[in-house]
Amino acid sequence: MRGVAHVNVAAIERNVAALLAATTGGAALCAVVKADGYGHGAVAAARAALAGGARWLAVVTAEEAAELRAAGIRARLLVLGPLDADDLPRALDADADVVIWEREGLERLRRLERPARVHVKLDSGMGRLGQRDPAEATRIAEELAADGRLLLAGAMTHFASADEPGGRFLDEQLDRFRRWAEPLREAHPGIVLHAANSAALLARPASHLDLVRPGVAIYGLDPFQGDPADHGLEPALEWRSRLVSVKPLEAGESVGYGRRFVADAATTIGTVPQGYADGVRRALAPGGGEVLVGGRRVAMAGTVSMDSFGVDLGPGAQDAVDAPVRLIGRDGDARLSAEEVARRLGTINYEVTCGIGARVPRVHH
Ligand code: PLP
Repeated sequence: MRGVAHVNVAAIERNVAALLAATTGGAALCAVVKADGYGHGAVAAARAALAGGARWLAVVTAEEAAELRAAGIRARLLVLGPLDADDLPRALDADADVVIWEREGLERLRRLERPARVHVKLDSGMGRLGQRDPAEATRIAEELAADGRLLLAGAMTHFASADEPGGRFLDEQLDRFRRWAEPLREAHPGIVLHAANSAALLARPASHLDLVRPGVAIYGLDPFQGDPADHGLEPALEWRSRLVSVKPLEAGESVGYGRRFVADAATTIGTVPQGYADGVRRALAPGGGEVLVGGRRVAMAGTVSMDSFGVDLGPGAQDAVDAPVRLIGRDGDARLSAEEVARRLGTINYEVTCGIGARVPRVHH
């Protein structure tokens, strides 16, 4: 075993149940399992989320939708991403709801001449995907609703800064969205209004509407980059490995490419068989990274290689060969969170778990 991402599916189930308990006004929950479930494994994450009470699932690509259907998952499924003329029929083949925001999207759907459940997306301030002009978004929605084959299923938007304290821009976006979507729902009472990501779900009950769309929080990761426990969330993923080699290093001897770690006193170096091809970021070492070895925090030593990196175990640790390593996770009282790894890298926990390489098997338990 070089390295394994252990995913506790019961934790995902509990996180979803906790998030659902925090929703207001009877909102349903759509679990976002795009990008292979933020690195946790999409099918296992989807099943756990449904067991925890999620009624919908969301992905970005038609392939991701097909993967869930091939695994026998029947829940309502929303493809969030842009779909070109090739991908659109694939998404519909997977019996997924799709999202449009431009006239071209509507035309593409019409040309297919097949039934589809469609959500219209307003860009209320993210500046990415979505229709900027509320009047045009309404025209698109009305034309969609008037088409005999197409069903106007929902109206949505996405928040740009729901994780920021205070959240004034979130309130502005929510206000813009409601002013557009609520009259639409009056005209089409069956449609589902949805906006809230994890941060908005936790911070702004007013944003819950008919459906919430948490991603990162269902995996027990904190959208605010603090401690997930503060929100009753339990991290589901542990990235585990073992020391495959341990050897003494004399003062003045070095470890790794470029000799960037040179021992200033005699020490012991362990080798962890995970490298940047597995998703261990080269930017972490030397100097910036730590891992848990046998329940103890130790510093990474030397440059991260493609397949391995070194750790400085201190003098007299020759018996540590085979010791358990946690790149993320807990061992005894010691804990190394995805949030901490992200802080060391100047990024966010999302990128840390999404960045665990395809070469690292996901084991679900
Ligand atoms: N909704 C949309 C449209 C998204 O793109 C995402 C993820 O980026 C989410 C919901 C889930 O966001 P989060 O993981 O912050 O909860």
